[in-house]
Amino acid sequence: MINETDLMQLRRCVALAEEALDAGDEPFGSILVADNGNVLMEDRNRVAGGDHTQHPEFALARWAANHLTPDQRREATVYTSGEHCPMCAAAHGWVGLGRIVYASSSAQLAEWLGEWGVAEPRVRTLRIQDVIRDTPVEGPVPELAVQVKELHRRMRSAPQQ
Ligand SMILES: [Zn+2]
Repeated sequence: MINETDLMQLRRCVALAEEALDAGDEPFGSILVADNGNVLMEDRNRVAGGDHTQHPEFALARWAANHLTPDQRREATVYTSGEHCPMCAAAHGWVGLGRIVYASSSAQLAEWLGEWGVAEPRVRTLRIQDVIRDTPVEGPVPELAVQVKELHRRMRSAPQQ
């Protein structure tokens, strides 16, 4: 179900995640794509300022609510380097966006954090499907998940040594 176009969009998300990491934020990047394939909006994680709700998927959902009709939102796809957290999944659901494609899953991230001895986050790790109904969700993509893992490893290893 994940085609070459999807992979191209996901690679852009991973590049945005790396851009976030290089800027001192957490390595997550996402893009919003219209039904006709046009990229409407892209964003990356911006939590370094101290506001831990500054996730790209949340920003895309708010942008969509302000700029797209309900039909356009339903037909749009959100691509993201890492599966939505519960906050972002809820925002996606509340504004009525459509398909989600992710490079790596929340379960993978939880597994990596466990591997590195990092404490679990306060917000629980849930699948998107545990937060919203009726949204087509696809992922992970193994070859891209490896790249995402490396970004998270870099984030955890650099400042703590
Ligand atoms: Zn989030």
